[in-house]
Amino acid sequence: MNLSFHGAAETVTGSCHLLEACGVRILVDCGMFQGSRELQEDNASPLGFDAASIDYVLLTHAHLDHVGRLPLLVKRGFRGEVIATSATFELARLVILDSAHLQSEDARHHRHSRSSKRESDDCEPLYSMLDALDAIGRFGRSAEYGKVIPISSGVRATFFDAGHILGSASILVDANEGGRKRSILFSGDIGNDGRPLLRAPQTPTAAEHVVMEGTYGDRCHRPFAASVDEFFDAINSTLARGGNVLIPTFALERTQDILYFLHEGIAQARLPATLPVFLDSPMAISATEIFRRHPECYSSGMAGRFAAAADPLSVPGLRMTRETLESIAINRIHGGAVIMAGAGMCTGGRIRHHLAGNLGNAAAGVVFVGFAALGTLARRIVDGARTVRILGEDIPVRARIHTINGFSAHADQRELVAWHNRIGGIKMTFLVHGEASAIRELGTRLGPSRIEIPKLHQAFRL
Ligand code: ZN
Repeated sequence: MNLSFHGAAETVTGSCHLLEACGVRILVDCGMFQGSRELQEDNASPLGFDAASIDYVLLTHAHLDHVGRLPLLVKRGFRGEVIATSATFELARLVILDSAHLQSEDARHHRHSRSSKRESDDCEPLYSMLDALDAIGRFGRSAEYGKVIPISSGVRATFFDAGHILGSASILVDANEGGRKRSILFSGDIGNDGRPLLRAPQTPTAAEHVVMEGTYGDRCHRPFAASVDEFFDAINSTLARGGNVLIPTFALERTQDILYFLHEGIAQARLPATLPVFLDSPMAISATEIFRRHPECYSSGMAGRFAAAADPLSVPGLRMTRETLESIAINRIHGGAVIMAGAGMCTGGRIRHHLAGNLGNAAAGVVFVGFAALGTLARRIVDGARTVRILGEDIPVRARIHTINGFSAHADQRELVAWHNRIGGIKMTFLVHGEASAIRELGTRLGPSRIEIPKLHQAFRL
């Protein structure tokens, strides 16, 4: 059995791991690098293996940093089968089509600015809408949690609910190599226990090798209930100052968690009943519709609420703005509204217009509810920048900035250690998907197995 790492090595994004067992080549995730310019440039680099040689791709979940290079893989020759849960397929379709669209927009923008300054810049998009459609054409069998999927002679996979986003999974691959039974568990992204919509992360009882994420390997989240209080306080104090509340949202999961909290806050009279809320992200709107179609992904109590039409994602004053003109019209509102827009790390999307319009206003509030990677606009604001450059303009940061850590879709250090402890028989643990300092720190806290921190394209013989 051979294992090599082609992304998320000492960094959070670009997940892509290649497993070779019993003569088949299986890729687990094929994600995009996100964040700094250098990291993003890695997307166009050689994959580190021959795309045409890959037989299967197993997807842990639909976040861009786990599925974003799938169209590139197909463009470079992959013709095998993609296997994922049905919710992941639905969300991944949305994510890669959106990514193809963003890239063609970026390339057009670059070409436009190149004619004036940067002659040498490459302005080809990484892949086109057609490549994205070709990738979707490779979507094959849907995995059900806990049910074994035969991959090829001697190799099988089992998906376990990872509790991270809708449809997310940890994937156990079992291989029988000449009578020798081997197993390797890919954690995917591990969820945060006790979140309202999803189940807590599930694991198999044992695995010989583990490839594990460590995004929050060096810290613990604030308790959940305290974060909900903080969230309501941030909204109410901003409304009291007369400003708008901006919430940069990740379209998948975080948006729906926030809708749920708004629903509960209004139901419990902790937020004004007439609160105007804008969901200004076509992708988040589509994702929210997908959430309503997958009762199999929820705890039984939550699935019952969806079934009873007591929709836990409904908010009385909610307006979903798909059209650009509707989005522009929000600029005329100078206070009293909650505006949710993508992208979560403010690297693009409609949130940039809203930040440009509100950051300079001391009455406004910006509530960050998710991870902000190094090099992103969100991180600069969270880290206390006095001015930020948005859409070609220097904008002073006068708005109140709130960072709510407890809503993370990721397990914190304590939960990661507990997750690892639940799995018996681990011989070797590979730590990925974390900034170097975070995974090193996590490595010091994990049980007796050997710990490896792979470098990009590093290969191991197991
Ligand atoms: Zn994720």
